[in-house]
Amino acid sequence: MFVNITEMSEFSQEEKDNIDKQFEELLSHSPKCHKNEETIALVRKAFKVANEAHFGTRRRSGEPYILHPIAVARIVSDEIGLGSKSVIAALLHDVVEDTDITLEDISSMFSPKIAQIVDGLTKIRGVLKNKEGQAENFKKIVFTLSEDVRVIIIKLADRLHNMRTLDSMPPEKQIRIAEETSMLFVPLAHRMGFYRIKMEMEDLCLKYLKPNVYYDILHQLKGSEKKRIHYLNRFCIPIMMTLEQHNINYSITSRSKSISSIWAKMQKKNISFDNVYDVFAVRIILQDIPLEEEKAMCWRVYSYITDKYTPNPERLRDWISTPKDNGYEALHTTVMGPDGTWVEVQIRTQRMDEIAENGFAAHWKYKNIDGFEQSQLEVWMKRVQASLTNPDEDALKFLDEFKMNLYATDLFAFTPKGEMHRFPIGATALDFAYEIHSEIGHHAIGARINKQKIVAIDYKLQSGDQVEILTSESQKPQKEWFKIISTVKASNALQQVFKYEKKRNHMRGQQILAETLEEKDVPVTHTVIDKIVQGYGVVDKNELYEKLGAGDLNKDKIFEYATQKRKSKKILFWSFSPNKEEQEEEQEGNDVKIIRHSTNYTIADCCHPIPGDQVIGFKTENGYEIHKDNCPIAIERQLKETAQRIKWISKQEQVFLASIQIKGKDRIGILSEMSGIIAKQLNVNIRTVHIETMEKEFTAYLDLYIHDSQQLNTMMMSLQKIKDIEKVQRVEQYTFTINTNKSNN
Ligand code: MN
Repeated sequence: MFVNITEMSEFSQEEKDNIDKQFEELLSHSPKCHKNEETIALVRKAFKVANEAHFGTRRRSGEPYILHPIAVARIVSDEIGLGSKSVIAALLHDVVEDTDITLEDISSMFSPKIAQIVDGLTKIRGVLKNKEGQAENFKKIVFTLSEDVRVIIIKLADRLHNMRTLDSMPPEKQIRIAEETSMLFVPLAHRMGFYRIKMEMEDLCLKYLKPNVYYDILHQLKGSEKKRIHYLNRFCIPIMMTLEQHNINYSITSRSKSISSIWAKMQKKNISFDNVYDVFAVRIILQDIPLEEEKAMCWRVYSYITDKYTPNPERLRDWISTPKDNGYEALHTTVMGPDGTWVEVQIRTQRMDEIAENGFAAHWKYKNIDGFEQSQLEVWMKRVQASLTNPDEDALKFLDEFKMNLYATDLFAFTPKGEMHRFPIGATALDFAYEIHSEIGHHAIGARINKQKIVAIDYKLQSGDQVEILTSESQKPQKEWFKIISTVKASNALQQVFKYEKKRNHMRGQQILAETLEEKDVPVTHTVIDKIVQGYGVVDKNELYEKLGAGDLNKDKIFEYATQKRKSKKILFWSFSPNKEEQEEEQEGNDVKIIRHSTNYTIADCCHPIPGDQVIGFKTENGYEIHKDNCPIAIERQLKETAQRIKWISKQEQVFLASIQIKGKDRIGILSEMSGIIAKQLNVNIRTVHIETMEKEFTAYLDLYIHDSQQLNTMMMSLQKIKDIEKVQRVEQYTFTINTNKSNN
C-alpha cells in the first residue's frame, strides 16, 4: 500500500477494519465474482484503487466515503445479480469525478470496457448536476442507455443507496433528491423491470416528500399485521393442501403492497386505509419446472385455486402468453377468499420470479436457454431511440411521450400476415398504419378488422385485432390526426409533414407581405408589422406569415391594416373571405367531380356529410349519393364499386348568420385562440366581432356564417374548452352600431 500517512491517520483502526470487513462481505456474497482467481484479483484491485483514491474522505454522515461504493457494489451484485465487471465499475464509480484517477488509468489497470462503464456513470453525474431541467437531463440519461445498459443499472443502485442513506442530508437536499428520484429513477426502474428497487425507491421518496402519509400508513400496516397473518393462514392452508396432494413443488409467500402503492390506491379511490382490501397478494412460486411445461403448470395451479375460491373474471391477467414489455411474466388472478374478501394470487415459476424481482439482469442469466425470447429491453431502447431521432424535438414533450409509453399497458395487434405489433392502450388504426410505414399512415382511410368490419382510422385497437389498413392515393395527412394518434412513431411522421408545410407557408407569407407593401410603397418596419398583426388579430408575426402563406388571412387587408391608425383596444373587427378554393376547384377537371347545389344528389344517411367535408359519391340513377370519404360504409362499398371523388362547393345562400356571446377572463392570446378555432379548425367565417372589456373580464359578440346548427354546437363546445372562457351561448342578433365600411364583409 502506497498511502499517504497523514491522510491515513484520519481513519481510526476501527474504521479501517470495518472497511475491510465490508469488502470481504461483498466478496463472499458475490458468487459471480468467484469464477476464477483472476476475477477475484481484479475485484480486489478495484477495491484497493478505490479505497486509496477515496482515502481520508467522508460522507456527510461521517462514515468513510469508500463504504458507499462498496454498498453500491453489493446492491449490484447481491440484489440485482450482475457479474464482476459491474462490481468493479460500481467500486470505481465515483473515482474519476472525485479523485485524481483518470479514465485512462482505469482503462489500462482494468479494461477499456470497464473504463467505458465508469465514463458513462461519470457523465450521468455531470448531467444530474446540470440545471438544464429534468426533461433535458432525462433525455441525456436515456442516451447513455445505448452505450451499455449496465451504466443505468449501476446508477440505479447508486441512487438506491443514496436514498437509503438520505437521513444525513439537510432537509432541502432530501426533498430535491427525492423529487429527482421519483421523476427520473422510479420510471427507469419500472421500465427495466426492477420492481423491488422501484418499490423501495417509491417508498423512500414518499418518506421524504410526504412524511406524514408515510408514517401513518406504516403504523397502520404494523397495527393490522397480526390480523392479516391470521387471515392469510386461513386462506393459504386449503391451497397448500391441494398443491401437496398433486405433488407440486412450490413455495408460497405473501407480501403486503408497498406503502406508496397503498397510498396511490387510497387517493385514486378516495378511501381510507381500512378500505384498501388488497393490501397484500399471495404469491405461489413453482419450483423445478422445465421451460416447456411452465405455461401448462401455471394454468393447472390456477385451476386448483379456482376450484377452492371463486375468481373474479375481470381481474385475470395472463402475462405468460404475452409477457409485459419489460419482460414480466406471471399469471394473476383475484379470488374471493373467506369472509368475502378479495385476494390477489400471483402464480409464477422460479425463473419468472427471478425476472420479476430483478428484471433484465435475470434475463441475461436465462438468455442462453433455447426458445427463450431475447431481452425486450432492446426493443424498448430502439423505441426510445426512434423518438430521439427527431432532432429538434422539445425536451419536455419528449418526457411526456416517454412517460406515455412508459406507463401505458400494452396491447397487441396483428398484420394480415400475422406479424405482431405492440401498441400502448388507446392506439388507433391510424397508429397501426404508421407503425407499418409512414407512407401507409399518410394515405390511410380506414381499416378492416379481423377480416370483417370496416372501421374509420380513429378506431381504437383492441388487443388481438388483425388489422388491414385501407389506403387511398388521394388521402393526405390532416392536422386533426394528431388527436387520434398516440404513438411516438406516428406523431414524428406527422410532424415531419406539417413542419415542412409550416415552413413553406411562413416563407410564402413573408413574401406576400413584402410584395404587397412594396407595391404600395409602405416601408416594412416593426411598427407596420405590429399594426398588421393587430389588424388580423393574430398572436405574432410568425402566425401572421404562416396564415398569410396558407391563405387563411385575406391578403387584401394588408395595406388597410398597415396604414390604419391604432384603434382603441375595445373594438376589433376582422373578416375572412369565403373559401378561396372555389376558383381552384373550378379548374380541377378529370377525376374530380364538382357538385353544385343544382346537381342532383342525395346525402347518405350513415355519415351525413355537410359542405366542407371530404366527400365521395356513388352514381345513382339520377345523380350521386354523397358520403364522407372516411365513412365505413362508403369504404366497404368502394371495394365493390368505384366511387367518384367529389368536391363540394358551398353556396353563400346555404349559410346563415348566427350570433354567439362569449364571456371569460381577458388575457393575452385568448382572442387569437378563439378566432383560430372558429376560422381554422371549424372553417366558419366570422362576419363581425365586438369585444367589451371590463376590469379583467370580457364579453365578445360574434356574428358567424354557419352551415347548420350542428356546426354551431360543435364550435360552441370547442370554444368552451379554451382556458379562461367561462360561458358561451347563442344569442339573438344583437344590434350595435358599427362603422359600415369596416364591417360589410
Ligand atoms: Mn455514488
